[in-house]
Amino acid sequence: EPVLSIEGLEKTYNRGRPGEVAVLRGIDLSLARGEVAALVAPSGAGKSTLLHIAGLLDVPDSGRVMIGGQDMARASGRVRTGVRRRDIGFIYQFHHLLPEFSAVENIMLPQLADGAARGEAQARAFDLLESVGIRNRAQHRPAALSGGEQQRVAFCRALANRPRLLLADEPTGNLDPATSDQVFAALMELVRGSGLAALIATHNMDLAARMDRVLRLEAGVLAE
Ligand code: ADP
Ligand code: ADP
Repeated sequence: EPVLSIEGLEKTYNRGRPGEVAVLRGIDLSLARGEVAALVAPSGAGKSTLLHIAGLLDVPDSGRVMIGGQDMARASGRVRTGVRRRDIGFIYQFHHLLPEFSAVENIMLPQLADGAARGEAQARAFDLLESVGIRNRAQHRPAALSGGEQQRVAFCRALANRPRLLLADEPTGNLDPATSDQVFAALMELVRGSGLAALIATHNMDLAARMDRVLRLEAGVLAE
């Protein structure tokens, strides 16, 4: 069973009103465990809309969003929130770390919210920091970290609760090209080491070429 399976997804904004725009016109997508796919799209093509629907932050007009054998497009708000917290990790272009907490605390917080014991959460946070090469930065607050380090911490936080699906929107888009390359390599190592299915939006074709699949979103449909 795929980690994520999307079938016949359609989304139109402002239907029947001025400004009507049919953004997604029949999207089919299946992601298996361990599969890492690039999502490439011209600006305005609906990349954010697709990521929001896959991340259960928005609902489609029609079509199915299967996660864990259940259609999330038709699930209750409570079920969607539970699956979003437990099974999906998010990474954005900007880190969104909490400024008053250290790196290790930022990675512990989602685990504590999910009921983990403090010692266990801390040990996992240190392991994750180690795996992206910044264990020595654990006690720094975000403002004391470089852009690349901040983004690595955000990757660790996204994976802290061992999600099955990772959704990333331009995860290195905020960084200079050299840093972006290193940070992307760290992300790929983390993802490969965890058996995650990942959908990673990027404008960078060099980065896209390093993933298992490249999916292009254009005119409302996905092409491999
Ligand atoms: P991308 O992330 O690829 O730039 P988006 O998914 O943000 O694209 O947007 C796709 C299209 O849908 C754009 O034309 C955008 O203006 C429109 N759009 C996005 N969100 C809304 C909304 N909430 N209401 C109306 N139109 C929207
Ligand atoms: P970059 O050149 O990658 O943007 P910086 O010049 O911001 O990195 O920082 C270089 C190193 O110094 C990084 O490892 C960063 O963690 C550390 N650093 C930067 N600012 C501070 C600070 N205010 N307190 C402690 N360490 C810092």
